[in-house]
Amino acid sequence: MKGAWLTDQGCVDFTSTFQVTRRLHDEQTAYQHLEIYESPRFGRMLVLDGAVQTTEGDEFVYHEMLAHPGLLTHPSPRRVLIIGGGDGGALEETLKHPIERATLVEIDEAVVRASRAYLDVIGGDAFDDPRTELIVGDGIAYVAAAEERFDVVLVDSTDPQGPAVGLFSPAFYAEIARRLTPDGVLIVQSGSAVYQQDLIAAVRRHLRPAFPTVRTYTATVLAYPGVVWSFTMGSLGRDPSDVPAEEIARRTQGFALRYYTARGHHAALDLPPYLDQALRAP
Ligand code: SAM
Repeated sequence: MKGAWLTDQGCVDFTSTFQVTRRLHDEQTAYQHLEIYESPRFGRMLVLDGAVQTTEGDEFVYHEMLAHPGLLTHPSPRRVLIIGGGDGGALEETLKHPIERATLVEIDEAVVRASRAYLDVIGGDAFDDPRTELIVGDGIAYVAAAEERFDVVLVDSTDPQGPAVGLFSPAFYAEIARRLTPDGVLIVQSGSAVYQQDLIAAVRRHLRPAFPTVRTYTATVLAYPGVVWSFTMGSLGRDPSDVPAEEIARRTQGFALRYYTARGHHAALDLPPYLDQALRAP
């Protein structure tokens, strides 16, 4: 595929384009079109329905910022639920913490299979960790039927289309709140700060009835169209802004981190006025 280009259509008028050298895998699964590409700048890339999900080159940014702010806002998480995340990156970051168990519920087994075959640098040994429980199934049905309680829930899903639509609904967030322990925290990937501000605002609106504290923060995910990506947290307990930097430094001692830091945690929560105002707009 010398000189080939892959275009990720972020939205109708905004794309990002990558030079790719090889397509290593191409499969129409029961849920989506799954491809794995090789690229000079980002290494191997997981692409679902034409949208870049994760790359070897920058996965650490997205996965560290999805996992650690929530796991450190909770005073001592032991039980963690990850919905989606079949590439294993969020799971790997979660297992850096002294948790007892991480349950990952991914709807498409092909994503786990292809990620383990081609992208093992992203999940590492996380799927083989004795604390990991892998469930292939719909996260919405799993949460509705679950009897267990969780300290932290991470929703590492595709954008709101197909099986992921319900993962952005007020009913789902209310169900999650019922499954959380008293200091429980929910984090969702809430889309682009450039062209999905409506989605971020909707996620915040949908979280508020069930969560006293709702916060959005951002990170620079180079392989995503527009680069500035958002995450939104619903907390039943502590406000992420109140987590002392000293505590973050102490609890992440020895962690191999390439993006997340104690100061970065607070900086990411300090939204620039343009975005803060856009998200507060009625
Ligand atoms: N980081 C990526 C992003 O922000 O776009 C997400 C990566 S992860 C691979 C997304 C996963 O969510 C996909 O593997 C998809 O199959 C899964 N997913 C979508 N809807 C789901 C559902 N209802 N339950 C469980 N997993 C779901």
